[in-house]
Amino acid sequence: MKTPCAICGNTEFREVTTQYIYQRHEQLMVVEDVPALACTNCGEKYFDIKTLKDIEARFQDIYQHGKPPTEQRAVPFERWGSCGRWGESVELFSVSSSSADSNPPVPVWVNWKI
Ligand SMILES: [Zn+2]
Repeated sequence: MKTPCAICGNTEFREVTTQYIYQRHEQLMVVEDVPALACTNCGEKYFDIKTLKDIEARFQDIYQHGKPPTEQRAVPFERWGSCGRWGESVELFSVSSSSADSNPPVPVWVNWKI
């Protein structure tokens, strides 16, 4: 028995790889080619808990243990909102089409398959 999509209730999913943006406070990590399941109806993506824990471990390796990321790209990010998560206020970022934000954080990038 499959868990239905939380957005639309569909139970069909397909395996995809996608870009995952992990963020905590002003620190951003972009992971390329992360395996996920996508709802075939609405496209909402789901990651399993093991994948998410792995991403968090990589984030901590880089930001707390000084491990070099695959690369660091000065891609402009901009704030587009914030939300309350885990009892703290989290800034939300997206890749910016302009450089409107005067002081955007510089994300680190890693490839999933390393
Ligand atoms: Zn769906």
